[in-house]
Amino acid sequence: MTRKLRMRRKLQPDYFTTFVEQRLPRVWGEDLAVQPYGTRVTAAIRPVLERWMRRKRKPLTFRLTQILTGHGCFGDYLCRTAQREPTSECHDCGAAVDSAQHTLEVCPRWAVLRQGLTSVVGGDLSLPSVITAMLGDDESWKAMVSFCETVMSQKEADERMREEAADVASIRGRRMGVRRRRYLMRLL
Ligand SMILES: [Zn+2]
Repeated sequence: MTRKLRMRRKLQPDYFTTFVEQRLPRVWGEDLAVQPYGTRVTAAIRPVLERWMRRKRKPLTFRLTQILTGHGCFGDYLCRTAQREPTSECHDCGAAVDSAQHTLEVCPRWAVLRQGLTSVVGGDLSLPSVITAMLGDDESWKAMVSFCETVMSQKEADERMREEAADVASIRGRRMGVRRRRYLMRLL
């Protein structure tokens, strides 16, 4: 299985539900500081865990899960964990660190979409506040799902284009290498 497929499987909502609803209560006593991508969502859900587990008609989607957990097409994750990018920077605005929270709350590229989101969930886009709003009413849950769907599908498409461009450059580089070797052979 490729690393990408493994990542996708790991990010499936079922996996996340199992993590939050079964494993999470057991890890309260563990040192959360050593779990760089679990800490944020753990801290946000912990105070409302019972409501989270009792929620109904509020399904998790793949892309909502990415924003909640930080596992996904974020420079920080792609660099530090997936090791597919050389830096953590944001390709959209040049910020030094592109994280899930940067995408949700800060990155200017998503400003218009963000306005639509804050008009429903309120102006505080810290994860605890967003999760509280999502648990509070269906409209907030749907608004967050919609924001995540649009933003993450675009970030994924951008990542695919970067990967394809890198592949083309690598093939060109190899071809150039062959040509250069042939040229040098002729000089000998
Ligand atoms: Zn950005």
